[in-house]
Amino acid sequence: MYDISELKRCIGDLYEKHRGNNGGNVASYIPELGKANPDHFAISVVTVDGQEFSVGDSQHEFTIQSIIKPLAFLVALEIHGREKTLSHVGVEPSGDAFNSVELNPRTRLPYNPMVNAGAIAVASLIKGASPEAGVAALLQRLAIAVGRELRIDERVRDSESMTGSRNRAIAYLLHNFDVIDEQIDHTLHQYFSQCSVLVNSRDLAMIAATVANLGENPMSGKEAFALTYVRDAMAAMFTCGMYDYSGEWAYRVGVPAKSGVAGGIMAVINRQLGISVYSPRLDERGNSVRGIAVCTDLAEEFGLHAFEFMNPGSNFLRDA
Ligand code: GLN
Repeated sequence: MYDISELKRCIGDLYEKHRGNNGGNVASYIPELGKANPDHFAISVVTVDGQEFSVGDSQHEFTIQSIIKPLAFLVALEIHGREKTLSHVGVEPSGDAFNSVELNPRTRLPYNPMVNAGAIAVASLIKGASPEAGVAALLQRLAIAVGRELRIDERVRDSESMTGSRNRAIAYLLHNFDVIDEQIDHTLHQYFSQCSVLVNSRDLAMIAATVANLGENPMSGKEAFALTYVRDAMAAMFTCGMYDYSGEWAYRVGVPAKSGVAGGIMAVINRQLGISVYSPRLDERGNSVRGIAVCTDLAEEFGLHAFEFMNPGSNFLRDA
């Protein structure tokens, strides 16, 4: 066991430092999301040996949105294996917006599972025998990953479904190119539902710590995700997790991460730590402004970047 007091101090400082940052706007293209309190702000960390710390509005629930994408990808890999899964979705960064209505022209597949087209292909792969079954199966995994039952925010789901023409267009495009089957409404129900799972920042850090702990919840020791595929999800997050900011994120922060348009970001420090930030004001790419700022500073202070030559602060983590 190691002492995380340094980490606690740093997170407290970063909370104060970035609290006054009012940059960005709450997402409103899904009308229900526009009702979020823009001032909410929380940071949580969970270590792989089960220590945790949160600051701010860490009990406030928000919808997971795109942060479900690497987790849904993990489930698809477990059900279908790599070959079949990768015959429906690639692992190439697109450099385009998350909701682009496009396929990779070379492969005629979605670029990767972290953009909507890829996530809708993945939703089709995990949708289950009935609309309820596929969602319930995913919720079961998440319950193991966070250590409590989670539920869907039906108002957000219905709000997105009613205004989701763009995602419908993507689904029809995918069907046209035989990437998904004809059960388009079933697939979209799975996709909209999984985006609308309610979490708080502590839950997200626990999910990130479960991934960092190679699929096992660090508190209960129970397996939420199969060890074999955890690296697949981390690789996809590392290269594609922050949309068209992914390259810059890899350069500046250098850890696998995923953001969602409700304002959450989760970052995974392999075999060490799960980090989450919640702050609903987004930049023009759809990433939380304060989330990026906090993760950038935290990675700098603790030398978390995967290719950091000194790892000054993380030595104490690595000694664990
Ligand atoms: N449900 C959202 C959408 O499809 C998820 C997008 C996101 O979080 N970037 O538009």
